Amino acid sequence: MSDAGEWAGARPRLGPALRKRCPRCGHKAIWDRWGELTERCPGCRLVFLREHGYWVGGLIINLAVAEAVLMALLLGTVATTWPDVPWTALLVAAIAAMIAVPLWFYPRTKTVWLWLDLRLHPYQGRGPSDDASHDGAD
Ligand SMILES: [Zn+2]
Repeated sequence: MSDAGEWAGARPRLGPALRKRCPRCGHKAIWDRWGELTERCPGCRLVFLREHGYWVGGLIINLAVAEAVLMALLLGTVATTWPDVPWTALLVAAIAAMIAVPLWFYPRTKTVWLWLDLRLHPYQGRGPSDDASHDGAD
């Protein structure tokens, strides 16, 4: 049974979210194509797009992860090679990382953002975004 009510007390999990799965039930068939979620989770019926502009939080997570990787790369390289820092190689690596990391992490930003949102706003069993019978006509 995939009734949304049975997931009312479910605690969202970060592990599945980091593996691009539903943070509530762990279902993996939640993608229409790269970076684009289905409307609802086929496992728990969770509505993914909860409101207009919902994914801004995910974009902020993506930016934060990219900046953290850049800082770790820069500080780690400078700290381990000082005073002979390979500046050109570091610049090339930094540019490559700033292209690759956000692309690699982008789908995960959505599932991680869902996880965080579900942690901050737990499903109470009566919200319109999780009600499978809700038609959006308020
Ligand atoms: Zn689910």
